[in-house]
Amino acid sequence: MTPSLTPSLRTMLADRLPAGRFSFDPVDVVAHAYDGSYRTAAPAAVVWPRSAAEVAAVLRGAAELGVAVFPRGAGTGLAGGSVPDGGIALVLTGLSGTPAIDAENAQAEADAGVTTAALQAAAAAQGFLFPPDPSSAAMSTLGGNVATGAGGPRSFKYGTMKDYVLGLEAVAADGAILATGGRTTKNATGYDLSRLLTGSEGTLAVLTRVRVRLVPLPPEQRTLAGVFPDLRRAGQALVALARQRGPAAIELMDQLSLRIVESVHHLGLPVSAAAVLIVEIDGWPEEVDPAAARAEALLREHGGEVLHPEGRGSALWRARKAISAAIARVKPTKVSEDVCVPRTAVPEMLTRIAAIAARHDLILPVFGHAGDGNLHPNIVCDRRDADEMARVELAVGELFEAALALGGTLSGEHGVGTMKAPYLAAAAGEGAEAAMRAIKAAWDPKGILNPGKVFGPRGRFHG
Ligand SMILES: Cc1cc2nc3c(=O)[nH]c(=O)nc-3n(C[C@H](O)[C@H](O)[C@H](O)COP(=O)(O)OP(=O)(O)OC[C@H]3O[C@@H](n4cnc5c(N)ncnc54)[C@H](O)[C@@H]3O)c2cc1C
Repeated sequence: MTPSLTPSLRTMLADRLPAGRFSFDPVDVVAHAYDGSYRTAAPAAVVWPRSAAEVAAVLRGAAELGVAVFPRGAGTGLAGGSVPDGGIALVLTGLSGTPAIDAENAQAEADAGVTTAALQAAAAAQGFLFPPDPSSAAMSTLGGNVATGAGGPRSFKYGTMKDYVLGLEAVAADGAILATGGRTTKNATGYDLSRLLTGSEGTLAVLTRVRVRLVPLPPEQRTLAGVFPDLRRAGQALVALARQRGPAAIELMDQLSLRIVESVHHLGLPVSAAAVLIVEIDGWPEEVDPAAARAEALLREHGGEVLHPEGRGSALWRARKAISAAIARVKPTKVSEDVCVPRTAVPEMLTRIAAIAARHDLILPVFGHAGDGNLHPNIVCDRRDADEMARVELAVGELFEAALALGGTLSGEHGVGTMKAPYLAAAAGEGAEAAMRAIKAAWDPKGILNPGKVFGPRGRFHG
């Protein structure tokens, strides 16, 4: 946005919003120049709408002025998706009414700014599980989770946010408020716009309200862990486990992840292990017992020592949830990747990641939702060190190349944002990328919604 537009933007916002809903204060501007990635770029203004009508008013004004709008939930995204670049940082956390649970229909409806943990708690109070469980659930918003197609450990059994959205209220780039989907669990009436907007990363519309389906709370949950002296064997164990009936989550932490969390939280983790697999099993007690016995036998067959942690409150689960934040204490910059491969390729992907880390002399802990083939290699580095960042860039290209060569993709749940935009065509294919660009042009002809995200200049792989 050119600075000459600032007075018109100020007038536009003052005309359309009550006082206190927007700011040009440098403190607010700087506070919204970040997300959970290491990208930073400041907006011209920060806007905190409280309703879909206010979002619509802002979008109409922005469209008239040709000013970019960057939708933002809690800013926990790891792909640079909500990092603005001039224009308006549109913060949706003020849309935060109490979630409504429709127990008879096993559904819930909530404003887009509600945290996912708040929805989960409201659902649990009425005997339901809302399965998508990103580790950021206490902070991240439902709108952000839908916009990124977020997942978590339970995605292995239950799927990601993409599998739960029944309907959305959204504001299009021209300010029109539209509803997608509805209150039925089946819907074959026209194009599936809810599914299109889910994972659209703020580039097609601003989400203001979300309707999701719920599942009954499983009556019993059991956690097992396998402690492995060999990373590849842990990968082979998860492939065998994932074929079984019973597991709801199969999570992996490599040795470096264990050591980093232990150094921060002192939980008594098995830090000499090459890797730990956490297996959560849920269902009726009569299903859980045999499934747990089968899982235990498989872990042992693959050389694992079996532990029986006490559910999500145990040190191992707490460690798994705390990894991202703990890693950030090692060095100032964290490049969080989110590659996803067919699960049979996980052992080979783990071997290739280790080789990439060694080749470029980088600190590279790996953890993730291994049952889904979704690994989070995190490169811990310092963006002020130009030599190290050059090696990071090479390593990221090689990680992407390895994932694609093994039949995988660049992101399982964090989205493309700015970080992976240069590689979209390489991952999705030229034809699919062109179709995505055509959808973007149809929904947002002026290109004002989250420009620079998902689509970017073509990058190249290094190798
Ligand atoms: C410690 C930590 C752990 C994490 N663990 C997980 C995990 O287990 N699984 C996982 O999937 N992710 C995880 N993440 C990543 C992140 O929390 C998710 O991507 C989350 O969905 C982002 O939600 P948010 O509200 O913070 O959105 P933001 O980061 O603010 O935005 C993310 C994207 O969504 C768009 N957006 C946000 N709100 C809206 C809206 N209302 N309408 C339209 N577009 C919108 C933004 O433009 C941006 O493109 C983790 C992040 C951290 C920091």
